Amino acid sequence: TDEIDVNYIRTVKRCVFSQSYPTPLKGPLKLAAVSKDVLESVLDVDVSVSLSEDFVLYFSGGKLFTGSVPLAHRYGGHQFGYWAGQLGDGRAHLLGQYTNRKGETWELQLKGSGKTPYSRSGDGRAVVRSSVREFLCSEAMHHLGVPTSRAASLIVSEEPVWRDPFYNGSAQKERGAVVLRLARSWFRIGSLEILTRSGELDLLRKVLDFVIEEHFTTIQTDDLDKYVALFSTVVKETAHLIAQWMSVGFAHGVGNTDNFSLLSITIDYGPFGFMEAYNPNFVPNTSDDEGRYSIGAQANMGLFNLEKLLEALYPVLNPNQQSWAKHILKGFPQIYQKRFQELFKAKLGLEGEEESDDGYLIAFLLKMMEDTGADFSMTFRHLSEVSAQQLHSRSIPKAMWALQDLSDHEYFSEWVNMYLPRLQRAHRSDEVRQHQMRGVNPRYVLRNWMAESAIRKAEKDDFSEVMLLQDVLSRPYVEHPQAEERGYASPPPHWAKGLKVSCSS
Ligand code: AMP
Ligand code: MG
Ligand code: MG
Repeated sequence: TDEIDVNYIRTVKRCVFSQSYPTPLKGPLKLAAVSKDVLESVLDVDVSVSLSEDFVLYFSGGKLFTGSVPLAHRYGGHQFGYWAGQLGDGRAHLLGQYTNRKGETWELQLKGSGKTPYSRSGDGRAVVRSSVREFLCSEAMHHLGVPTSRAASLIVSEEPVWRDPFYNGSAQKERGAVVLRLARSWFRIGSLEILTRSGELDLLRKVLDFVIEEHFTTIQTDDLDKYVALFSTVVKETAHLIAQWMSVGFAHGVGNTDNFSLLSITIDYGPFGFMEAYNPNFVPNTSDDEGRYSIGAQANMGLFNLEKLLEALYPVLNPNQQSWAKHILKGFPQIYQKRFQELFKAKLGLEGEEESDDGYLIAFLLKMMEDTGADFSMTFRHLSEVSAQQLHSRSIPKAMWALQDLSDHEYFSEWVNMYLPRLQRAHRSDEVRQHQMRGVNPRYVLRNWMAESAIRKAEKDDFSEVMLLQDVLSRPYVEHPQAEERGYASPPPHWAKGLKVSCSS
């Protein structure tokens, strides 16, 4: 009835969604940024609709579409290795689905839109800095070709939100923001775990059948082994996703099972980071003291999360299927390694098959990068820009600063002496090789300092750099004069060294 506050915080049983209404952000509201690409190619609207007052209201929780029943999703999860019980959408509202002209169905979700039954001790809000980061990074990842949720708009308000970003015990007043994000599905590993843990197996089957029917169309719905088939697909796609993260130097930061999509897309952008100086121990999240989610541990974290997925599926599998699924999981490292190798071969411009030698070339390079602390993205980019002649004569232009750093390594010459002949055996012109490599090695990634620089301006209500970054990162493989001016492809500025990102958002 009207008397019941649907958003009151509680432990929820026997459901997958709770009806929950967004709490409108307090005005004045400002549309800080939109993704033209999402509006036009996903939502079929002209970017000019975002200029209307209604747009800002609909996508900040102030107005609902006719017939929309906003929902908060119930899920649980393993956080930092331990079962955490009920989590759920504590500050997100699912507005509904939209099927676009291409026939793709997308789920629209607001983040930062107020309390839900799953808010626990949280306030249901998101601050400007974390919203800017999510908005920019999810779009940047999409344009890097990494499967991810998308972001359509970023709306900021004057609503005060209290946070302690430095964990020093003093909360600071920040401003609230709402991001409209989209995914084909927001179901996570934790969506299933909570049902299994609560013994709600009928509901578990229902969700599984729904997910298979909607999103895994190659699996027959009457297939007796459909849950194993689902598991097998998630294992494969998760391995591929993590290999892609590694190929762009992306560390998710909080790889808990509630943040791992069943569709194997990147979701929940929190304290993520792009690695700069190559270091497998790179940990983007300052709250992750033990480095559980370091960049080099991501394949293992994927494996752990898939083990948890298997545990969630166990009760709906017969003994035969259980051992079959276990066997499938054992194949994870191989699937991951294979994709990793394919991606890094492309990054190095290695065509054709020389498997064992290529693996050695890649590992050798990464080891030199580790020893010299060469910048991950720019080393590969400079290798795409340098000519074979320049490499041959070891005359690396000064502007290729990352490659210069690498060339200080005592075995650099030895590596070049293997790399160049390998390139020559592929019988491609140097131009063709460079062109292919530039198409997979971005010149710009969302470095922490770049996000921070845009955020500092955004805090002062200047969103020009957010928009510039969004534009640059939507075409990260081509040179942008404005980006060059701002040093986006230069060595990180000195002030970038002390930057930290925490879970507080
Ligand atoms: P995360 O670490 O971002 O994956 O979030 C873990 C859980 O905390 C999820 O259930 C979130 O919905 C919830 N959560 C995070 N921040 C807030 C907040 N400000 N208010 C309510 N719930 C939150
Ligand atoms: Mg999460
Ligand atoms: Mg989060």
